[in-house]
Amino acid sequence: MKRTPLVVANWKMHGQSEWIKHYIHEFVKAVGKPGQCEIVLCPPFVYLSQLQVLLRETGLGMGAQNLHDSEQGAFTGEVSGPMLKEIGCSYVVVGHSERRRLFGETDAQVAAKFAAARLYSLVPILCVGENEAERAAGTTERIVQRQLDAVLHVCGIDAFAGAVIAYEPVWAIGTGVTATPAQAQAAHGFIRNYIASHSEASAGSMRILYGGSVRAGNAAELAQQQDVDGALVGGASLAAKEFLAICAGFTG
Ligand code: PEP
Repeated sequence: MKRTPLVVANWKMHGQSEWIKHYIHEFVKAVGKPGQCEIVLCPPFVYLSQLQVLLRETGLGMGAQNLHDSEQGAFTGEVSGPMLKEIGCSYVVVGHSERRRLFGETDAQVAAKFAAARLYSLVPILCVGENEAERAAGTTERIVQRQLDAVLHVCGIDAFAGAVIAYEPVWAIGTGVTATPAQAQAAHGFIRNYIASHSEASAGSMRILYGGSVRAGNAAELAQQQDVDGALVGGASLAAKEFLAICAGFTG
């Protein structure tokens, strides 16, 4: 099945108003109307409304970096799915390794966030991946399967149809060390086959992004892998020209 490539910028806690205005001006001028590649930008929460206005009629999409699993309530500092939907988000990242590692998010919480994203019509971008010790111990597939099972258990296999999974080996995030195309394909192939063992339809419609030190120089090679449907880009998405070149690598 032909899947439209998807390239997502995760700006993390970077960028303020002037920077965003300048970035979008530069990016849109160079990209024109994106054709064969879907491009999504995920700014910090407080800049979503500014970005929503800047992205009008550009063909670029917008996502959030996190959400709370409740619709509303006494959860100081949190943001809900309906709020993200109202402000113009189509996507939301769930279970990023920084959320799991630095903020203690468990597999169960990640699953609840995935369910909330689905409930409020946001496409979840579910991050999975092993750390360095887990790879060295040869447990990559076990770890990824555990992370997938947590979501499968709560949401069921149909929730994966049209969803996005980002395979992000923790040892490759922000380190400058990228998984080789073969390592990426092996993990992506495992994820696709595992989901296919529950439902061929969900596996075929789901996009699997690679994340971890993607740069302009390695994007095209990663893009050639059969089960790599795009990229989740952190550091390199902060420079408009570099991010543009990464998108071009996935456009072919
Ligand atoms: C990320 O944080 O999702 C990521 C992939 O970061 P980087 O591209 O900087 O490795």
